[in-house]
Amino acid sequence: MLLVSAPILGVPEKTALSKVIDSSWLTMGEQVQAFEEAFAKAHDAEDCVAVSSCTAALHLILHGLGIGPGDEVLVPSMTFVATANAVLYVGATPVFVDIESVDVPLMSIAEAEARCTERTKAVILVHFAGYLANREEWQRFAQARGLHIIEDAAHAPGLKEVGTYGAAAAFSFYGNKNMTTAEGGAVIARDPELREKIRQARGHGMTTGTRQRLNSRTAQYDVTMLGFNYRMDEMRAAIGLVQLQNLQEWNEIRRILVMLYRRLVAKHCPAVTIPFHEPRTSAYHIMPVLLPRYVNRQDVVDALRTEGIQTTIHYPPLHEMTLYRELFPGIHLPRTEDFAQRELTLPLHPQITAPVVEAVVVALAAAVNGRAQAGTAA
Ligand SMILES: *Cc1c(COP(=O)(O)O)cnc(C)c1O
Repeated sequence: MLLVSAPILGVPEKTALSKVIDSSWLTMGEQVQAFEEAFAKAHDAEDCVAVSSCTAALHLILHGLGIGPGDEVLVPSMTFVATANAVLYVGATPVFVDIESVDVPLMSIAEAEARCTERTKAVILVHFAGYLANREEWQRFAQARGLHIIEDAAHAPGLKEVGTYGAAAAFSFYGNKNMTTAEGGAVIARDPELREKIRQARGHGMTTGTRQRLNSRTAQYDVTMLGFNYRMDEMRAAIGLVQLQNLQEWNEIRRILVMLYRRLVAKHCPAVTIPFHEPRTSAYHIMPVLLPRYVNRQDVVDALRTEGIQTTIHYPPLHEMTLYRELFPGIHLPRTEDFAQRELTLPLHPQITAPVVEAVVVALAAAVNGRAQAGTAA
């Protein structure tokens, strides 16, 4: 089965893991520190905080900014559930905002504006599929209203712009992301005060970590805030250091594959459209396409599966999930809903080759064009 995404792991990761095991220092040591330095450098940032997941990163950012009960946070519905869950973790209210259009499935500024109240404290921007939100427009929007900008950058690691929009950016190293540590995440926050708050909250609010106490020969520590256990361990950091060395090259391969997909889809099945038709900076995390309204998506999914090709959907909208429908009933986001009904995610990862892209597009064309003809004949 050709998978939508697949991690690339090999001998260098195994070697790095063996070294950690031989060192018998398993968490929050030299590997984590080296990974934080390297990941920060890859984004032209001074420092970063490695954590256990992107979900933890989002929670720590909201917590660090002091967002809580009574506050509202603007979030897209066209995202993974973690984006909105993190807002609920701090007791604040996620306010779902529609996308710009089915061609630009990023949060609409006009819609965000319409949903602002005096309780609005922050906006979480998701760089959907790796395509960056418009930084200058969002900064103008946020400055005018005194809002924090938080980036959910799970789809966009390795781009220098990421982490420069506002307060902080959250990254994911889950197994299906552009680089992985199996589970893992990071925060880039440019304000050192916010960064240190996040670093402290990552480890139970303790004033020093285990390794610092070993080095300073003092057993003393204090707890000065209610924190969490969102630490990263040495094995994950060691894998992350290896993966990070490949990130730019892998993102470049993704870009070339996306260009090829665009060219071949336009040629073989022009009824299928591809979002972000205008060029835009991207980390090319996934390959979303939009099926024409006359085809049944499940038929296309089944046809591709028969050919050994996996497809997925990004995303079932959050405002339509049972949890969120029960919490916030009656929300309608027409552009998000239209996009979500027609979206299909095709395989995209750096081990895919040009002939494989061609085979996927030929199978997609057969499925879509076949249905169209059957529809016409009926
Ligand atoms: C994967 C993902 C997350 C969650 O990442 P974890 O590291 O699994 O917590 C959050 N937001 C988006 C947009 C994602 O794609």
